[in-house]
Amino acid sequence: MPGFPSPCPTPIVAAATGFILAWTATPTEAQHPPSDIGSRLMAEPAVRQALDAVRANEPEMLREQVRLCEIPAPSFHEQARAAVMKKHFEELGLVNIRVDAVGNVLGERPGRSPRPRVVVASHMDTVFPEGTDLKVKQEGLVYKGPGIGDNCRGLVALLGVIRALGQARVQTEGPITFVANIGEEALGNLAGARHLFDVELKDTVDRFVSIDGSGTGFVHVSVGVRRYRVTVTGPGGHSYFRFGAANPIHALGRAVAHIADFEVPETPRTTFSVGRVNGGTSINSIAYEAWMEVDLRSHDEPSLRALDAKLREAVEAGVREENARWKGKGAVSVAWKELGAHQGGVNPADSPMVQATISVTKALGLPIQIFPATTDSNIPMSRGSPAVTIDGGGDGGGGHALTEFFDSTDSWKGTQRALLLVLALTRP
Ligand SMILES: [Zn+2]
Repeated sequence: MPGFPSPCPTPIVAAATGFILAWTATPTEAQHPPSDIGSRLMAEPAVRQALDAVRANEPEMLREQVRLCEIPAPSFHEQARAAVMKKHFEELGLVNIRVDAVGNVLGERPGRSPRPRVVVASHMDTVFPEGTDLKVKQEGLVYKGPGIGDNCRGLVALLGVIRALGQARVQTEGPITFVANIGEEALGNLAGARHLFDVELKDTVDRFVSIDGSGTGFVHVSVGVRRYRVTVTGPGGHSYFRFGAANPIHALGRAVAHIADFEVPETPRTTFSVGRVNGGTSINSIAYEAWMEVDLRSHDEPSLRALDAKLREAVEAGVREENARWKGKGAVSVAWKELGAHQGGVNPADSPMVQATISVTKALGLPIQIFPATTDSNIPMSRGSPAVTIDGGGDGGGGHALTEFFDSTDSWKGTQRALLLVLALTRP
């Protein structure tokens, strides 16, 4: 899950920042003491039984985590993995099971009442292209394989919740819609979650939980993103005979120099990076084309918009300066392509949903680790709807790399936390 340019939760380094951001932003928190929903739930016999079932099922769930991981699922090519998830939904007794127009797999568990409707989603897609060796290797409690944590752990935690609720015959107040969704990673641009909120479940989602990756932290600050490819073109030509023509690489270099000097707020945390540059054909040519890919992030939409405007000014200045330098001889021009955009948002620390997440996490004796990230919860959060993204348990690292690993020590606690949270949220 960590990585660049990933929409997934980012490393623990961000944890401290996220905590400060989240808690200083909500001075009213003290007036809303954390709810004790976690411990109250754990006192109920049916819930205890479900929690025990989660633990007993864990060895089988880990085997399933490996099986799912070995099925290729690049963004927008999740069909094979989706077919397996659909089969699980059927075997676990969900109803109204369907694959929607973009490929999300949905299944429902009815409640006593039609609301509140809780939607629990785990993304199926990975950043690994077709042809990647997905064979998982096990060494003791540690599993190694691309995608084993992000997000085969989330998928298995989702299945673990459904299975344990069924085994313990837990009746909930509101219904739960379980979703194995497509398109969360960079290329996916949150397409699966966007379709859920815009079309498939439009106006019917009361509370949204995404289970994403390994660990025991959670996300209630969604980081907004803008990504662009900026291409500068010109007539190009021989480096000696055409000398004096404006040079796309030089123009891009001027733009990058401006970008590198951007001043951005620390709070709300706002970031920029030129992630890739490319261009030119040979050492003895003036390039006819050069491009860069730029990633801008902030959970604060106005800050992100301001940064976006600065980026445009920087690029225009680079082009203008290069053309002025050569007095318009063989002028260069610029074209923009948006590679991804989603707004950020915050589910306030004193909101019932965040308090419930803290309460169930504490009830299981897990540490409170909060970090900002870009996940499927960006879609509801940017629209002011209650959402959190939780880790799926265990521990891990190397997300978005071939060296990804998952440590399954006490990983059942992640599924237990997901189960408790979902139960807490089904209550009005
Ligand atoms: Zn992920």
